[in-house]
Amino acid sequence: MASVLFPDLAIIDGTIGLEGMGPAYGRRKEAGVVVIGNNPVSTDAVATRLMGFNPKEVPHLRLLAERGLGEIQFSNISIKPENFLKWETHFEPPPSRLSFSFPDVVVYDEGSCSACLSTLFVLLHRYKDLLIPHRLGDDKIHIGIGKHLENISKGTLLIGNCTHKVKKRGIFVKGCPPVASEVLKSLIKR
Ligand code: SF4
Repeated sequence: MASVLFPDLAIIDGTIGLEGMGPAYGRRKEAGVVVIGNNPVSTDAVATRLMGFNPKEVPHLRLLAERGLGEIQFSNISIKPENFLKWETHFEPPPSRLSFSFPDVVVYDEGSCSACLSTLFVLLHRYKDLLIPHRLGDDKIHIGIGKHLENISKGTLLIGNCTHKVKKRGIFVKGCPPVASEVLKSLIKR
């Protein structure tokens, strides 16, 4: 998006943030900062650092910097106040590996991102019983996420725009990501 519509002003409201499994299943965290800048990549880099992370280790920031869309090297950015790290608050990163056990659920995950994973997490933890009527012939609930899905059972619940190319083979829920309640709404409308 930044390569086609580059913002003139970036405002990151970090008064209250979210740590862990974002963007829907994390824990609320008070940080008490608002970061404003005239380059969104550099602004994001500063906010990332204030959360306790190294911007060079965040793939999208590194790629944007390599494409010349913004500076993430702090020595090349004018940051005010200079002692901005006084407001650093350590945020928990998302889990590097997600594993949860739902024996009667089959998940096809090929090329998803953390946002659809988060929706899936919320859907199964909060609403799994409401999905029971959508079990397939093997008595299991089949759910697909990600852009590289190919081999899925007919009737699979397909979450997110990335699953669009196989949508004729399942129940497609658009969104990027759709939130768990939208997934349920789409099922009820059917
Ligand atoms: S639909 Fe959006 S949120 Fe879901 S996997 Fe694709 S890019 Fe990520």
